[in-house]
Amino acid sequence: MGRTAPAIVILGHGSLATARRIQQRYPHAVIHGLAGRVDGADRDYQEFGTTLRELYQQDTPIIALCAAGIVIRTLAPLLLEKGAEPPVLAVAEDGSAVVPLLGGLGGVNVLAREIAAALDVAAAITTSGELRFGTCLLNPPSGYALGDLESGKRFVSDLLAGESVRIEGPAPWLDAAQLPQDRQARLAIHVGHVERQPSANELLIYPRNVVVAVTAGTADAIRAALREANIALQSLACLLSDEREMANLSLREAALELGVPLRFSARPGIVLELARSVAPSLLTSIEINDSMAIAVAAGPLDPLLIGRPRGRLAVIGLGPGAAELMVPAVKAELARANDVLGYETYVRMAGPFRPDQVMHCTDNREEMQRARHAFELAAQGRSVVVVSSGDPGVFAMAAAVLEALHESSDANWHNVDLEILPGVSASLATAAQAGAPLGHDFCVMSLSDNLKPWAIIEKRLDLASQADLALAFYNPISRSRPWQLGRALEIVAQHRTADTPVVLGRDIGRPGQTLRVTTLGQLTPDQVDMRTMVLIGSSTTCVFPRAEGGEWVYTPRWYGDKPAG
Ligand code: SAH
Repeated sequence: MGRTAPAIVILGHGSLATARRIQQRYPHAVIHGLAGRVDGADRDYQEFGTTLRELYQQDTPIIALCAAGIVIRTLAPLLLEKGAEPPVLAVAEDGSAVVPLLGGLGGVNVLAREIAAALDVAAAITTSGELRFGTCLLNPPSGYALGDLESGKRFVSDLLAGESVRIEGPAPWLDAAQLPQDRQARLAIHVGHVERQPSANELLIYPRNVVVAVTAGTADAIRAALREANIALQSLACLLSDEREMANLSLREAALELGVPLRFSARPGIVLELARSVAPSLLTSIEINDSMAIAVAAGPLDPLLIGRPRGRLAVIGLGPGAAELMVPAVKAELARANDVLGYETYVRMAGPFRPDQVMHCTDNREEMQRARHAFELAAQGRSVVVVSSGDPGVFAMAAAVLEALHESSDANWHNVDLEILPGVSASLATAAQAGAPLGHDFCVMSLSDNLKPWAIIEKRLDLASQADLALAFYNPISRSRPWQLGRALEIVAQHRTADTPVVLGRDIGRPGQTLRVTTLGQLTPDQVDMRTMVLIGSSTTCVFPRAEGGEWVYTPRWYGDKPAG
């Protein structure tokens, strides 16, 4: 039950050595270095504040190698919002101080001690309970859940005031703690899965040792069954279902509502069998009805070891290239991926990846094969990402993935949790840099005749030009398609004047990007290559100079006579 790998954020090259020492302790941690200041970090970032806040909001543990004050000021605006609080630490650039700042209940002190040990210094622990008892009672180890935080705080302050305590039930992690234990104590730490009335004198900790096997049912039905069996909801480790129910939406919603993983087993037969199969150390099992059973194990259960998850396949768009233009949902998807598939250039662009993430780079032409491979991996329960540049639905992998699924009758493929995550397409990224050349109706075309007859391309070009749509050409030219662009421009020129504005965007959002504004009359195919986006204006597209040099290009929102005002 591992926590997410921390992000180590550094501002200068001088911190890299300390960052690497910390990374030895957490091999999956990614070192984020300020672009232009740090050479050789795992990932570059442009803006410290944005990066730190984004990591925080994604619930990633943060180890910032800089002054504590900088971190506090940067995250302060987010602290009042409710939500998960990941551990946040400031570490001195030279590794001489480790200061846990936030995430007391997320295990920040544990992290601080580990880092301090790795750097051979003492952690600046300031939490009273932690200092006195050597453990944070309100943050039990994974596999256990705290009953109630507010009453827990009162309990700990009573303990700090000098009271002694009894421990009821198995709490192996407290063996090493320095608790003032006394069998007659008024205060008790109670560990168990049986539903209990909370009392002011008790700190309730629930082992997550219960599995509900269910093939049909809602969160309410599961709650009712647990209540009936006198089992605390907090002890629920996961739901387990039959593989045939993988695409069952109500089960998925139930798991989400109960905040537990939903796992699947291939074992056929009644749910009680399912429940038995998961609990080798079964204490009790209770059959509720034909579609629900409860199993209670002797100790905490790791859901990751029970059955398997529903596989996931996300087809993502990286945007044109710049990290700022990648949508946050895509970044989060890349972080959770086990496997990443795609054309090598794009896979590299999506990285760097952790050592546990597998990259499957293929040639640009093997799209259907790549799509099928993605389903094979996802059907095994893995989390798979297929990368495209720009938007995955624009002349890219999303359609290939859906085609592969449509052709397949394999239920395991159809059961995969498939999602398409959009990106900023090259035409939109290019248009934005030029102004708003696509500000009115426009037509998007690929000039590649690899997968469609040239005749249909000519027909569409002719009609779109006739209809006075602004045009966006993807795949305008390549070594194997040298004459097509010239022919396309001839067709457009039959319906547009030579002074029609044209925008050429090359490697937009990537290093060495160029943007050029020209006219249809001046445009020749040798100004264009396969990394270029060609935008051709309509009859209303205008150009005017920009103060800083160059031009703005836009197509007004109106057509015909300009409206008053
Ligand atoms: N899915 C991608 C398009 C893939 S087709 C998207 O939505 O952007 C590949 C074509 O897109 C290239 O031949 C080029 O015409 C255009 N293209 C992709 N990325 C580009 C970029 N960064 N700058 C300019 N054109 C780009």
